[in-house]
Amino acid sequence: MPTLVKLHDLTFKPFISATEIEKRTIEIGKEISNKFAGEKPLFIAILNGAFVFAADLVRACNIPSEIAFIKLTSYHGLESSGTVKTIIGLDINIENRHIVIIEDIVDSGRTMHHFINDLKQKKPASISLATLLIKPGALQFPIKPEYIGFEIPTKFVIGYGLDYDGLGRNYADIYHLKEN
Ligand code: 5GP
Ligand code: MG
Repeated sequence: MPTLVKLHDLTFKPFISATEIEKRTIEIGKEISNKFAGEKPLFIAILNGAFVFAADLVRACNIPSEIAFIKLTSYHGLESSGTVKTIIGLDINIENRHIVIIEDIVDSGRTMHHFINDLKQKKPASISLATLLIKPGALQFPIKPEYIGFEIPTKFVIGYGLDYDGLGRNYADIYHLKEN
């Protein structure tokens, strides 16, 4: 992999390799397959960031399942308040379905807290969350993902679906901000 990646005004350095991501994704895929065998779970992938992880995770699962995509954006105010907006919503009835949300990263937890509360109104059989990354040091909402790829420090990351101002989603590895 290239040593450094420059996007806009910032430089990023290698953090988690594609090989490590693949290994962990396969483990999580096995766990989900065991847990939901016979249940035909519905994966809900959160656009844009989770599209790469979702593509790999669903292929690491070897049970009949469906996948839907939704798009959420969070607008953070100056303080910890903020609102989460649905840009593309669910086009499928989830009543009595086992839902596995696929997210790229949980930071404050605001986005997932809001979304999970929304989903609960629709009476699914269960809701689980699979997130590739979580920043325990940044968590402000009571979010406990059932499946976590990697716990990481509170540092900005890009690659493997994650962007910095639109750029960087296409890199196979994950990079974090290089401090000068
Ligand atoms: P939360 O609502 O948990 O505070 O934030 C979740 C969203 O913020 C993620 O879905 C992601 O879009 C964005 N985010 C949080 N941390 C990072 C990061 O380190 N890198 C990138 N690229 N996005 C992040
Ligand atoms: Mg996201």
